[in-house]
Amino acid sequence: MREGDTIESLLADATESLEGSGTATPRLDAELLLCHQLDCTRTRFMTWPEQKVSPEDSEAYRALVVKRCEGLPIAYITGESEFWSLPLATSPDTLIPRQDTETLVEQALLLPLPDDARVLDLGTGTGAVALALGSERYGWDVTGSDASPAAIALARRNGEALGLPGVTFVESDWFSDLEPGRWDLIVSNPPYVAEGDEHLEQGDLRFEPHSALVAGADGLDAIRLIAREAPAHINPWGWLLLEHGYEQAEAVVDLLGEAGFRDLFSRRDLTGRFRVTGGRWPGG
Ligand code: GLN
Repeated sequence: MREGDTIESLLADATESLEGSGTATPRLDAELLLCHQLDCTRTRFMTWPEQKVSPEDSEAYRALVVKRCEGLPIAYITGESEFWSLPLATSPDTLIPRQDTETLVEQALLLPLPDDARVLDLGTGTGAVALALGSERYGWDVTGSDASPAAIALARRNGEALGLPGVTFVESDWFSDLEPGRWDLIVSNPPYVAEGDEHLEQGDLRFEPHSALVAGADGLDAIRLIAREAPAHINPWGWLLLEHGYEQAEAVVDLLGEAGFRDLFSRRDLTGRFRVTGGRWPGG
């Protein structure tokens, strides 16, 4: 056991270890893990770098750094992530919420929908999208569904922790176990990576659930299923809004058009790439 670790000495050692590990952000990773261990914000590291850290915290922190050096995503090490400024418990049973997906939430909030809209988030994972929508529109009746019981348990925990009991979660493999009923909006961030895509071997994706990422040879299997089955579950002139890969917008527009959706549109994410496509179901 080393004596006399300070915030700065721990961060310097951890950054050095992480530099060889393949992460693009060694210092940031070191800081985020220390925030988690000491339950503080990064500001403290700047204002008081020479503060002593107890041997227990130092040892526990080094164990976290080892996990990160092995490639484990920060969100799985800490069990926490943030989406739409909401703190969310996160586990290897779910995708780690991504900032890209905030585009899906933004676009959903721009749709002309009734104050008491019934909204379904298909494949909710941590509950991120459902909870973000519920936190913005108290009148909406928001349901998140997921095929994974572990994801549903986590999403429920997140809803309770955020004090959003109006957002409910149900276990269902896509539409198969949902109560009959019609939604005014169905949103989804489905799996859309193609089988064998090289990104699956890189970074955080190596540790995330395959079923939340991969959807067949062209990555469009889940979106095909949703386009085919959603019409039976959407109110006349209700909306379907899907996240997809930035090279899939045209294909998704075609799929929704072939399925009978109208008023199709695609929207760009913060990096300027088409990331979300939607349309209205005319009914019938
Ligand atoms: N945007 C994610 C990625 O490529 C994929 C998420 C998804 O398949 N829904 O990292």
